[in-house]
Amino acid sequence: MLNVFWIVITLNILGLRDNILLSNLKKQIIDCTLCPRLLQYSTNIGRIKTKRFANEQYWSRPVPSFGDPRAEVLIIGLAPAAHGGNRTGRMFTGDSSGDWLIKALYESKFANIQTSDHKDDGLVLSNVYITSVVRCAPPNNLPLGSEIENCSEYLLKELQVLKAIRIVLTLGLVAFHTYRRVCHLEPVTFSHGKTYSIDKNITLVASYHPSKQNTNTGRLTWKMWTSIFRTIRLLLISESD
Ligand code: SF4
Repeated sequence: MLNVFWIVITLNILGLRDNILLSNLKKQIIDCTLCPRLLQYSTNIGRIKTKRFANEQYWSRPVPSFGDPRAEVLIIGLAPAAHGGNRTGRMFTGDSSGDWLIKALYESKFANIQTSDHKDDGLVLSNVYITSVVRCAPPNNLPLGSEIENCSEYLLKELQVLKAIRIVLTLGLVAFHTYRRVCHLEPVTFSHGKTYSIDKNITLVASYHPSKQNTNTGRLTWKMWTSIFRTIRLLLISESD
């Protein structure tokens, strides 16, 4: 009985320590100045704004990751959108990619609400953590190789702290190859909907990014998109057997 008591105490202490590490990492990201080109672009976007958000105060800084610190599913996007995450200060919030992602997460019971409008909208993710290749909005959604390299350090640190991760969902080609490179995996070909066994603990799931370029052109349909989350649910069930 006493052993059980100490196991519970130890697990709580480790959980607390990981929460502190993640929270410190978020602070470090928000203050990061490694990519002057991206910081300049994010600031300019927030100054010029766009007509429909003309009265809003833009975040215009690096956007930290968010979600459940004990998540088994890690989602890696590309970058905050200029008038989405760069405006609201939360990834996949306030833009059409966020609409697609959070609705699908809600329908597959990973989120408590089906919209992602602003940081204080009450959205809570369950068993999912969301991060991205770069944390600052890039011009034309195209980060440079050096910027991806700089920001990969944060992804690596997140992977070290998020010890429960069993499934990694990469959104788009850049996220797919960045995760592969950060984890020193052999080159593999990207294919939407395909799953890749990384080791005995982790499965990589590849998807197109739910950007407007993909959803408006039909390259990524709602059916294809929700099927990705059904696959993830099935993987979680089968791996816990
Ligand atoms: S993209 Fe990443 S590494 Fe570059 S400034 Fe933003 S947070 Fe820092």
